[in-house]
Amino acid sequence: MPHSLAILGSTGSIGTQALQVAADGGIPIVALAAGQNLDLLERQVRLHLPDVVSVRQADDARILSERLADMERPPDVMAGEAGLRAVATHPGADTVLAAMVGAAGLVPVLDALAAGKRLALANKETLVAAGHLVMPLARSRGVDILPVDSEHSAIWQCLRGEARSSLRRILLTASGGPFRGMTGAQLEHVRAGDALRHPTWSMGGKITIDSATLMNKGLEVIEACWLFDVEPERIDVVIHPQSIIHSMIELVDGSVLAQMGRPDMKLPIHVALWHPERVPNAVVPPYDPILSGPLTFEAPNPDAFACLPLAYEAARRKGTLTTVLNAANEAAVQGFLEGRLGFPDIARIVESTMNAHLSGGRYLPCPEIGAVLETDRWARTEAVRRMASIRKDK
Ligand code: NDP
Repeated sequence: MPHSLAILGSTGSIGTQALQVAADGGIPIVALAAGQNLDLLERQVRLHLPDVVSVRQADDARILSERLADMERPPDVMAGEAGLRAVATHPGADTVLAAMVGAAGLVPVLDALAAGKRLALANKETLVAAGHLVMPLARSRGVDILPVDSEHSAIWQCLRGEARSSLRRILLTASGGPFRGMTGAQLEHVRAGDALRHPTWSMGGKITIDSATLMNKGLEVIEACWLFDVEPERIDVVIHPQSIIHSMIELVDGSVLAQMGRPDMKLPIHVALWHPERVPNAVVPPYDPILSGPLTFEAPNPDAFACLPLAYEAARRKGTLTTVLNAANEAAVQGFLEGRLGFPDIARIVESTMNAHLSGGRYLPCPEIGAVLETDRWARTEAVRRMASIRKDK
């Protein structure tokens, strides 16, 4: 039986692919939340007939409501935090798909878990910002967190049936992004347009830049620490440019298990939405090892891609340091996309904001939600301030 679905971030890359998966499998859609893409949201509402939809701004909610007035049963159209909460806790939803981008998704994720929803999690920044709140809440409510990120879906699938004590280490694969093999000096000259051309995955803008800096892999290391209860020392990043192996686990007896497939997010979305059943899908063509060609592996270069070691450092300290890493990165990526920063400046901003947090005595090992949100705000403001001074120096 399909589990009914509410989607946070329905108009994004993951959200739109999830709606294709849902349509393919007859999964009912009960609620949708988006930011400001009203045209796409209107089309989604007319096709999937949810009970509730939410947009970021109240004015947009009014406009959308007028546009949908001709429907036989128009949905309730809401806005802002109340709208996100209504979608995340909709009584008719079995599963909530967290597919908003950034730490903005944290509060609705906590709302969904508190309401006892199964959480299909794409929005990795929520675990990076506050894994210490998300994971215990899921445990206390007895609800599953179903990984959607392809690497974590792979690890999760490989771990099925294995005792956690059998796990020796995780081999987290990374495509290496569009700048694989470049030196630090070469990276000084790349532009947002170059970074947005990912070689294997088609994704939203923020994660595409994170893939180019390898911050995405760093965020995934932190995500894996929380999801699989391992220390960062037991997670090794392996560059695998073909993106066919989505990650591997090494067991204590030396066996290595891998999950493979085409680089297509619809498959991990399908696996999560149907869990624990295995159900055929018509949206992802099968993987053919003969046609796919050789698979290669190499080590990442932490000197040229400094975001990765910064994320490991944050993963070791946890607490507010991961919140700062994430928030400073979100602000710096925005600055880079708007042409206000160079590519290597992203890591510089993140590092100096992390240092300011630690040296300013702001670090907390186990912050409550209020302190997480306050730290997130502080780190964004601090990162933007530092961006302005980088610009003046140039
Ligand atoms: P996109 O930028 O494509 O989509 C983000 C979605 O969030 C959009 O629907 C956007 O709405 C919505 N949104 C943004 N801010 C708000 C807000 N304040 N309130 C409500 N909705 C909001 O991102 P992706 O789909 O690429 O990524 C989503 C998450 O999944 C990220 O955390 C990413 O790291 C993760 N992920 C993505 C993968 C991918 O292949 N894309 C792979 C693995 C993980 P609108 O556009 O209408 O403004």
